[in-house]
Amino acid sequence: MEKVNILDFSKEELAKKIKPSFRAKQIYQWIYHKYINSFEEMKNLPKDMRENLEKNYILNPLKFVKVEVSSDESKKYLFALHDGYTVEAVLLPMKKEEIDEKGKLVHHTKYTICISSQVGCKIGCSFCLTAKEGFKRNLTPGEITAQVLEIKKDNNIAQERRVNIVYMGMGEPLDNLDNVAKAVKIFADLDGLCISPRRQTISTSGLSNQIAKLGKMDLGILLAISLHAVDDELRQKLMPINKAYNIESIINAVKAFPIDTRKRVMFEYLVMQNVNDDIKSAKKLVKLLHGIKSKVNLIYFNPHIGSEFQRPSRNSVVAFQQYLVDHGVLCTIRQSKGLDISAACGQLKEKTDKELQNDNS
Ligand code: SAH
Ligand code: SF4
Repeated sequence: MEKVNILDFSKEELAKKIKPSFRAKQIYQWIYHKYINSFEEMKNLPKDMRENLEKNYILNPLKFVKVEVSSDESKKYLFALHDGYTVEAVLLPMKKEEIDEKGKLVHHTKYTICISSQVGCKIGCSFCLTAKEGFKRNLTPGEITAQVLEIKKDNNIAQERRVNIVYMGMGEPLDNLDNVAKAVKIFADLDGLCISPRRQTISTSGLSNQIAKLGKMDLGILLAISLHAVDDELRQKLMPINKAYNIESIINAVKAFPIDTRKRVMFEYLVMQNVNDDIKSAKKLVKLLHGIKSKVNLIYFNPHIGSEFQRPSRNSVVAFQQYLVDHGVLCTIRQSKGLDISAACGQLKEKTDKELQNDNS
């Protein structure tokens, strides 16, 4: 019998597979709290049980292929899956300064981990490198959660440290909704990685029907929409999916989406020079978002070899932001973390594939 990935199972599912069932909780804690790397190390389990687990399950579904560290300390990982496909994930540490209860200035680091949900992507956005390789397959729930587990281990991030997750790596999470929804729940388990859904943001290119489905699941996650354009004609050129789900359908799906009253839906807007960086677009965006508790995140387009678009000027991005803020829309500019490593999704993978080709030639 072929071994299966133990990380694919929720604790409840594992409890049904393992006798006696209370062992599932212990196994979970060994994996996600104590970061062990073999079943052998699960010292409070009987020896024959450890041997059985070893025979039937895989514990480490990902292999490190490459890590790039940026000068701003973000780290980009390329992981290989059991079938040789590779996916990327990025650790983004953010240094924060806060005044504690005693009035002292304290420094601490907040972690965000950006993860992939598919190998490749079907959506085919014209500006995206992941789109170029086409779609290979969905990631399983355990292949999604393993990215966070391995990055926490590799950086000695203690179990109890809070991390945020963004599904903004390779792939369209809502095109792999069942596995992503299961990953959200496995992440949240208190005996597991203990990452509440309120700390998980699913980013989508705007599959309106799937947004509605996700809403019905009522997982308590945060939603980010990759909008990038304010009229259908341009959006269709950038993102062919807009033919099936136009801007109006996305806005309607967002309005119906259950969101924590203290939170906002994020709208990502990839700014490309002379494409969508004009004030007329900013004006339309304000209108579109009317009545939605939203926050806009402006992203500098990150050029890659062969891309037809250019990085916008700082002035145009700042002017765009200023217009939104002046008209009552919350707006931030994404710090281009890791620009000196291969920043946007798909770029580390492409680079490594090329290097491997060169090595082989
Ligand atoms: N498929 C989902 C999530 C993964 S893409 C989505 O599209 O939302 C995550 C983000 O990276 C998206 O907002 C996408 O538009 C952005 N992105 C893609 N290519 C980029 C590039 N070259 N430079 C900057 N951001 C890019
Ligand atoms: Fe897929 Fe997102 Fe890239 Fe579009 S931007 S091709 S949806 S990964």
